[in-house]
Amino acid sequence: MMLSRSRNVLQTKKFSSLLKRLESTLVIAEHNNEKLTPITLNALTAAKQIGGDISVLVAGTKCAAVAGEVCKAAGVGKVLVADDQAFKGFTPETLTPLILATQKQFNFTHILAGATAFGKALLPRVAAKLDVSPVSDIIAIKSADTFVRTIYAGNAVLTLKSKDAVKVVSIRGTNFEAAPATGGSGKSEAVAAADYKTDKIEFVSQELSKSDRPDLSSAKAVVSGGRGMKSGDNFKMLYDLADKLNAAVGASRAAVDAGFVPNDLQVGQTGKIVAPDLYIAVGISGAIQHLAGMKDSKTIVAINKDPEAPIFQVADFGLVADLFKAVPELTQKL
Ligand SMILES: Cc1cc2nc3c(=O)[nH]c(=O)nc-3n(C[C@H](O)[C@H](O)[C@H](O)COP(=O)(O)OP(=O)(O)OC[C@H]3O[C@@H](n4cnc5c(N)ncnc54)[C@H](O)[C@@H]3O)c2cc1C
Repeated sequence: MMLSRSRNVLQTKKFSSLLKRLESTLVIAEHNNEKLTPITLNALTAAKQIGGDISVLVAGTKCAAVAGEVCKAAGVGKVLVADDQAFKGFTPETLTPLILATQKQFNFTHILAGATAFGKALLPRVAAKLDVSPVSDIIAIKSADTFVRTIYAGNAVLTLKSKDAVKVVSIRGTNFEAAPATGGSGKSEAVAAADYKTDKIEFVSQELSKSDRPDLSSAKAVVSGGRGMKSGDNFKMLYDLADKLNAAVGASRAAVDAGFVPNDLQVGQTGKIVAPDLYIAVGISGAIQHLAGMKDSKTIVAINKDPEAPIFQVADFGLVADLFKAVPELTQKL
């Protein structure tokens, strides 16, 4: 009896490792034709957890450098390169037919991208065309078909099993460690050229804000200001503090809505999700929608003059003080 049970366990293990080998994931690389966006390395870790072969699609215009970078990333098998003028601006309208054609050729079990503005615009379209449900913004992988995501602004955690033949999944970067950028030996191959132009849209141009500061989504330290900052000019105080810490600057939605800072600085449910080593919330009350974007930060510091502010419930260190006194003092002491 004992013998047959242990044989069963062995067979189940063999079967599940065989299933893992049958998985094949396509990761859609996010980049700017020159450099890979870090979220792609987080997506590679997620792909590794699913198991099986990992291919990466690098679509762009003169994107050979990015393809080279992806080949070196750990765990990558095939790097499918689609270099074409049609992909200028990385519009979902042109990338979707490319992904569908690639899917038709290779029959992947999973298609993955980061839950960024890029992934959020692209994957629902791909899923709709494949007639499957997209699985959005996952924070963990239980098995090849079972994923974990948050709902109700992060107040509840949902585990879902996808029964679709192809799983189209976007991943929350802060919940998956970045895969090593080196040590891999992926093989690059060109995707069959086709006409991916569309008459529905035309990419004209884009203006990207340039900053020497670390990127908000991947910075190791973030200093965020809220309505308590009272004006955009007062954010200078936070930039001075951020400079000392090599930190990115973020904001609450109230600060963005009041026009203190541009909306690409917004942290929260409808902004960016961050999980730096250090998050300093200044003049931010701690509404659940804000917490949804930063509560996974490793160390949270809050400066607020109201001792009852909910931000203190998630803070590791709280300073009940007037920010206009406390922040310059802190900056000076650093
Ligand atoms: C669907 C939906 C989505 C949302 N998405 C987001 C989101 O992504 N991100 C987000 O942030 N919010 C979001 N919100 C808004 C959210 O509910 C809050 O309104 C917002 O986070 C409040 O911002 P705040 O903390 O800066 O402002 P307030 O709540 O007004 O807090 C200001 C704080 O500053 C403190 N303060 C004032 N003066 C000083 C001083 N001199 N010194 C020290 N402290 C001071 C006050 O005590 C107070 O606690 C969303 C809301 C909805 C409904």
